[in-house]
Amino acid sequence: MSEKTKYIFVIGGVMSSVGKGITTASIGKTLQSKGYSVCMVKCDMYVNVDAGTIRPTEHGEVFVGEDGIEADQDLGNYERFTGIASTRDNYITTGQIYKTVIEKERNLEYGGEDVEVVPDIPNEIIRRIKEASVKNNSEITIIEIGGTVGEYQNLLFLEAARMMHLESPGSVVFILVSYIPIPKTVGEMKTKPTQYAARSLNSAGIQADFVLARAEKHLDEKRKEKLSIFCNVPIENIISAPDVDSIYEVPLNFEKEDLANKILKKVNLTPRKTNLKEWRELVEKIKSIKNQIKIAVVGKYFATGDFVLSDSYISVIEAIKHACWANNVNPDLTWVNSKQFENDLNSVKTLSQYDAIIVPGGFGSRGIEGIINAIKYARENNIPFLGLCFGMQLAVVEFARNICGLEANSTEINKNTKNPVIDVLPEQKQVLENSRYGATMRLGAYPAILKQGTKIYELYKNFDLIKDNKIFERHRHRYEMNPKFINTLEEKGAIFSGYHLRKDGTKLMEFIELPKHKFFVATQAHPEFKSNPLNPSPLFYGLVKSCLG
Ligand code: GLN
Repeated sequence: MSEKTKYIFVIGGVMSSVGKGITTASIGKTLQSKGYSVCMVKCDMYVNVDAGTIRPTEHGEVFVGEDGIEADQDLGNYERFTGIASTRDNYITTGQIYKTVIEKERNLEYGGEDVEVVPDIPNEIIRRIKEASVKNNSEITIIEIGGTVGEYQNLLFLEAARMMHLESPGSVVFILVSYIPIPKTVGEMKTKPTQYAARSLNSAGIQADFVLARAEKHLDEKRKEKLSIFCNVPIENIISAPDVDSIYEVPLNFEKEDLANKILKKVNLTPRKTNLKEWRELVEKIKSIKNQIKIAVVGKYFATGDFVLSDSYISVIEAIKHACWANNVNPDLTWVNSKQFENDLNSVKTLSQYDAIIVPGGFGSRGIEGIINAIKYARENNIPFLGLCFGMQLAVVEFARNICGLEANSTEINKNTKNPVIDVLPEQKQVLENSRYGATMRLGAYPAILKQGTKIYELYKNFDLIKDNKIFERHRHRYEMNPKFINTLEEKGAIFSGYHLRKDGTKLMEFIELPKHKFFVATQAHPEFKSNPLNPSPLFYGLVKSCLG
């Protein structure tokens, strides 16, 4: 299988943040639409073993795969576009590669030889790419190399790409995704930075087969000719990739440029079919929607300096969009920093202008009282509310305090609270005592048994997702609803509508709802990770629907 697999490398030029992840995901989508099985791999140049220990304001959201891998947010893009669930096969970091090579060396697996940075490190990268391809029955594997050509950190990944091309030139394609600025004072597209990027790639031993020119506008013929000559790429392989209103339009633009067919031709394949109909209809629908609803996302990770970094919650944002579109409305999103509800209790009333309130995941104690105030406001004023992970934990704290009259908290926030309604499991206590933070949370997909007759059961049922009373959602947390308090909350009207049953018989509460409220739903899981534009998440869908009456 792996002998026949084709490999497409996507490499960035000029600068980051030009949408390399969306580009890679869209290439995957269009090749898939031609009838080929694809696998997407992200190579992150960091020494981190996974993204789990990186602050979200630093690196964006930590995306969680089906098997619990804590990965770069690009895996979320791949999944939203192709519908293929991510696992650790799809994520490679410098840290993982070195860790494996060093472990092999300690086990004498190099048979007494010197272990060298080149070729041993690239060889391990190649092994991982091929392993991912075989395990996922991939006919075409698309590998996105993090960072930008010319930086020191991703050189060994480029080296791996070069070596794969050397081994099988007809099976490897290189795509340079570059940026073409239009300086205000000049008013014209400048191709020189991209020419330099193509040359930097040459000095790593790689000749681009395609240049994908990201820019505000379409490339004109003149710029195409220039790029062709100076980047040494046939003119038909200079692809125009202008800014678009919705990222979901990108695959359709690529189709207009015939990119997928050109890539197939390059590796001696022909399209088996073209099937982008459903996607095209989706994009047309998105463009035609007129009505809006106002949604507040209340949390604390939004600000870095003077900027709002919504990247930390990219999957939540996309899940909101998917659910809105399925309900024929557009979201008008506002990031509300919970800090403001701490100093000025009255300011929480400003939340009355929103149709719905979402409290997403989070960690630590900063800004927490403000979030709890916001949840109280949503509950008391019948504003549709969805709590995700930390959002559920804080909804439990709010209910315990204000309805059950307990002096309650999560032990994450106050270790010595009188009533630890949210607490760690015993095994997590040891993890924390030994500071073993990496990859030790409750991670990945777990089944939850749903209670019939609840709102949550109905929502999942309408999406046909319940099998044997169970649904699967992904997780990333250390703390849990403390079973000692379940009865107290239920006596006061809360319903725990689903739980995970552990092998030892313990039940972990996964969902809570308040039946008398218009829509007050919270989950210990992160349903946003499984939402895609063609299949929205039932809980997000329910939230939006409840706003529309
Ligand atoms: N901090 C909480 C926990 O670790 C919630 C985590 C989250 O929201 N992802 O349990």
